[in-house]
Amino acid sequence: MDKTIVIEVKGVSKSFPMGDGLFTALKDIDLDVSGGDFLGFVGPSGSGKTTLLNLIGALDTPSSGSIRVLGDRVETLKHHEAAKLRKTTIGFIFQTYNLLPVYSVYENVEFPLLISGMDEKERQDAVHESLEWVGLLDKKDSKPAQLSGGESQRVAVARAMVKKPRIVLADEPTANLDAPNSHNILAMMARLNESLGTTFLFSTHDQKVIDYLRRKITLLDGRIVADEPVVPVRQGDLP
Ligand code: ADP
Ligand code: MG
Repeated sequence: MDKTIVIEVKGVSKSFPMGDGLFTALKDIDLDVSGGDFLGFVGPSGSGKTTLLNLIGALDTPSSGSIRVLGDRVETLKHHEAAKLRKTTIGFIFQTYNLLPVYSVYENVEFPLLISGMDEKERQDAVHESLEWVGLLDKKDSKPAQLSGGESQRVAVARAMVKKPRIVLADEPTANLDAPNSHNILAMMARLNESLGTTFLFSTHDQKVIDYLRRKITLLDGRIVADEPVVPVRQGDLP
């Protein structure tokens, strides 16, 4: 597992226009993330977790400060450069899965590869491997509507992992899952973290997620109020 710094956040603040003024959602955030980290931003609703993940994922830009992802200064990237960073380096998992309903499981997982210039055989191998990781190869021809919530989120994990990104950002990935499915998803990501060295950043207020973390970063009102290593209560063994 590489211990190089893959994400560097320095003095980052983020304000949104509100009424006549500004609402500051993040205040003076400093953070280094090492390759292979398995960390979570933990805090109540409205504390800034999603805003911070969106900045790191180059989905939005900070009002001040700087963010480096694998050396690239994210806030200075042009539109197409930010898109390229997201395509090649970062996998995203959202609380509502965000699967495309008219496409099959296979096509949903293949989607990020269609813009990557891979030929069909390479794509097929990568999709099969990714669906095997999440245990859903037998559902490859199903449509999202035919899947349970847990299965849908496993497809979303497969889609995030299919390019073998260095970094995965998962925004409240268990928010719509029951306890067994939450543990299943977390154990799966812990195993991918172990075997591939993928760096995982979660946002969560779910204790089931917190139980898997090796580093817990607590946000309150847009500030980091604690940043501590933790011994995971659970690991990637099957629940
Ligand atoms: P969390 O994910 O921890 O629940 P968020 O990062 O979504 O918190 O939001 C932090 C704060 O910033 C909230 O008060 C939210 O209302 C505000 N906020 C987030 N995005 C926007 C936006 N695009 N415009 C205005 N306010 C926003
Ligand atoms: Mg959020």
